[in-house]
Amino acid sequence: PTAPYDDNNIFAKILRGELPCTKVYEDEWAFAFEDIAPVAPIHVLVVPKGKYVSWDDFSVNAPAEEIAGFVRAVGKIAREKDLVEVGYRLINNIGPNGGQLVPHLHVHLLGGRVMGSMLT
Ligand code: 5GP
Repeated sequence: PTAPYDDNNIFAKILRGELPCTKVYEDEWAFAFEDIAPVAPIHVLVVPKGKYVSWDDFSVNAPAEEIAGFVRAVGKIAREKDLVEVGYRLINNIGPNGGQLVPHLHVHLLGGRVMGSMLT
């Protein structure tokens, strides 16, 4: 089972406005901000407003409406940034082997350059 949600994780603090961020998007379901250490010209982190540790937690426990709202928000941000035609990359890291550092579900939206293979 997924570990319990930690209310003191860094993205929870960003969501509560206790830590600063450069906000990119917000709606009922999702909040998005620029990654502090971007690896592409566009590197946005999109998080659900609900308390979910990971994709695993979210996909099992979130109501369908919340899942739909979050997925649509990610697509909307990409469209707002004019990334659809040129393309972009979504990454979600899950748990230790996945390289997840912050235990609040976040999708990395990367764009503005050609991405290399990530099959390594
Ligand atoms: P993960 O490895 O968990 O998928 O990704 C965590 C991401 O959060 C990293 O890309 C890292 O640069 C970013 N990050 C960590 N701390 C902060 C922060 O305080 N503010 C912002 N905007 N991004 C952060």
